[in-house]
Amino acid sequence: MDCIFCKIAAGEIPSNKVYEDEQIVAFYDIEPKAPVHVLVIPKQHVTGAAAITADNAAVVAHVFATIPQIAKTLGITDFRVVTNNGADAGQTVHHLHFHILGGGKLGDMA
Ligand code: AMP
Ligand code: ZN
Repeated sequence: MDCIFCKIAAGEIPSNKVYEDEQIVAFYDIEPKAPVHVLVIPKQHVTGAAAITADNAAVVAHVFATIPQIAKTLGITDFRVVTNNGADAGQTVHHLHFHILGGGKLGDMA
């Protein structure tokens, strides 16, 4: 499958990783929208939040169970977690990912 985040998860495309285990990878966003901007992805291909089901939700729970540790590694206590689903919401990569944004005062949004 021609999916950039599957390739990052497989190590076929380089990324600046901050966390990895058997289920998920976290790496710095190449176009940061905050002083600290990291993406957390499941290694398995899920197209986006609208494709989360009872069968694959465990990896989403694992992402959220790991976010505190990732934030600690990044040295941030205050952060926002965002996922964009669909073009109107700004989704450009169709592999589920959670943005961790922090490292400074964030603009109001949601
Ligand atoms: P979204 O717009 O929510 O789909 O988020 C996709 C994000 O992936 C954007 O913030 C991009 O800057 C980021 N991105 C795209 N390609 C790469 C890459 N090769 N390495 C790191 N981040 C990437
Ligand atoms: Zn993928």
